[in-house]
Amino acid sequence: MTSKLSLAQQARIQAVFITHSHADHIRDLPHLIHNRFSQSAPPLILFAARHVMDILCKNVFNGLVWPDFSTITAPQTGKPVVEYRALMPGRKITFNGVGITPVLVDHQIPAAGAIIEMNGQAITFTGDTGPTSEIWKRTNKTSNIVAVVTEASFPNDQQALADETAHLSPETLGHELKKIIVDAPVYASHRKTPFERDIESQIRNLRDRRARVLLEKNYTL
Ligand SMILES: [Zn+2]
Ligand SMILES: [Zn+2]
Repeated sequence: MTSKLSLAQQARIQAVFITHSHADHIRDLPHLIHNRFSQSAPPLILFAARHVMDILCKNVFNGLVWPDFSTITAPQTGKPVVEYRALMPGRKITFNGVGITPVLVDHQIPAAGAIIEMNGQAITFTGDTGPTSEIWKRTNKTSNIVAVVTEASFPNDQQALADETAHLSPETLGHELKKIIVDAPVYASHRKTPFERDIESQIRNLRDRRARVLLEKNYTL
């Protein structure tokens, strides 16, 4: 993110939602916060499920790995650089007209996806997860889901590794698809290099017209 967006674009970000604390999901956050500090940007609102926020505060923004910018006032604005908003799983909040419902998923560590609602449409974003259920139940109850973004990290021949690390393969994604009754495209993200091609063809072989690959051209989140 910080290598793709200009400083001015980074300063315009109002809020971020963090699914979990693995490094591939937070790697740009310290730089984003620091870059905004040196601009006169308003506080960055950092949303995360409270379980996830605890981990971030204890292990990253602890003054050892990175400063706790929620206690540092930006000289130009007189306000803290970051505001933490720990969210209760399952409880919807509204931020600037966008509904955010964090929902716990099943990953190696505490992790939450979210159902995002805006202008009468909704998307489900699981973040990293292995086989899970709560977020699908809520997805099935949410009106006008226009897209689901989940993951398929490893190819089928690495199912043991996918299970051990609480990720999905195309095969287990196929099982998850059976739990989703909404008729919306289901995008698989988070394909680990160098398995992208294998994963893509295995998803095609699921023969579920909803299933497709999320093409992350420049970077993987
Ligand atoms: Zn992860
Ligand atoms: Zn990840």
